[in-house]
Amino acid sequence: MEIKVTKVSADRMKPKPTDESKLGFGQLFTDHIFTLKYKTGKGWHDPRIEPYGPIPMDPAAMSLHYGQLIFEGLKAYRGADGSVYLFRPWENIRRMNASAERLCMPALDETFALEALKQLVVLEKDWIPRGLGTSMYIRPTMLATEPALGVRPANEYLYFVIVGPVGAYYPQGFSPTKIWVEEEYVRAVRGGIGFCKAAGNYAASLMASQKAAARGYTQVLWLDAVERKYVEEVGTSNIFFLIGDELVTPPLGGSILPGVTRDSVIQIAKRNGMKVSERPISLDEILEAGARGTLREGFASGTAAIVSPVGQIFCRGKELLINGGKTGPVTEKLYNQILEIQYGISGDPFGWRLKIA
Ligand SMILES: *Cc1c(COP(=O)(O)O)cnc(C)c1O
Repeated sequence: MEIKVTKVSADRMKPKPTDESKLGFGQLFTDHIFTLKYKTGKGWHDPRIEPYGPIPMDPAAMSLHYGQLIFEGLKAYRGADGSVYLFRPWENIRRMNASAERLCMPALDETFALEALKQLVVLEKDWIPRGLGTSMYIRPTMLATEPALGVRPANEYLYFVIVGPVGAYYPQGFSPTKIWVEEEYVRAVRGGIGFCKAAGNYAASLMASQKAAARGYTQVLWLDAVERKYVEEVGTSNIFFLIGDELVTPPLGGSILPGVTRDSVIQIAKRNGMKVSERPISLDEILEAGARGTLREGFASGTAAIVSPVGQIFCRGKELLINGGKTGPVTEKLYNQILEIQYGISGDPFGWRLKIA
């Protein structure tokens, strides 16, 4: 498929931000959008790169009513020499298709989807900020557009990609988070759609986030939906604990999002010679390890922050401090190792980096 490119005229281009320290996250979008349509019987068709703007949608579009809406999140990084890299982008495209399959949405051609994404990022590369830690966030999205009411898989879809510059997550160094253990609400249940980046999962999470925020906590630690016994994720990130010499993270059991960063942490930690386990971790085990002094570090993993140290956990009326509320050395080392691969600073022993410009 040939992508039809309509560039925005020079006089309509948005001004690019000049102060990289004020970029924030998810506030700015560039001049162009990639779109691709789907119709049953016809397949994916009409790929375009066009000026960024509102997408026309019928009020009866099925995604607005029944929630067939999935997305992805990845970044483009600028190296010191100006090169532009993607980090394991094929994993995001595969995961998009896994989400699509679960929500009875059509699969993308993975090779074409990566080509389209690259073409958009390269077209917008002047928007990629330069500072270490800054990047361009890439948001692929797929939604049902068929105008019809009735609960069934839609016959028409739109896939689009928008991109925008984002600031460094840690402009003033690491700031460990305080997390709230949520024992009432759950995020996802095995057999449901917790392993998908599906919009409904985030709607389901808002109430607990609000509750945690009202009490002064930055993130929610989710427990399993059946027994409320095992830890699953933190906010919209995966969770790791260093207990003694073992780096542990919950296994992917259908209710946990298979993070690209999670997998990268596991592989790098193993290469560093650490013992890494994907196994159920009960809240009791964490509290006991905390009491015994073997709970050495905790961190969340995700594309936005790479890793985000957990400094404090509030549970059953008690505060549990991890590593004195400070970022631990293992967390910091893993952060640096991933960052250095992403920005082309170090070698790329796993073949994760894709240079696109
Ligand atoms: C996106 C996401 C993650 C992290 O995935 P990455 O691929 O590492 O960015 C973890 N949990 C949830 C719920 C997510 O939405």
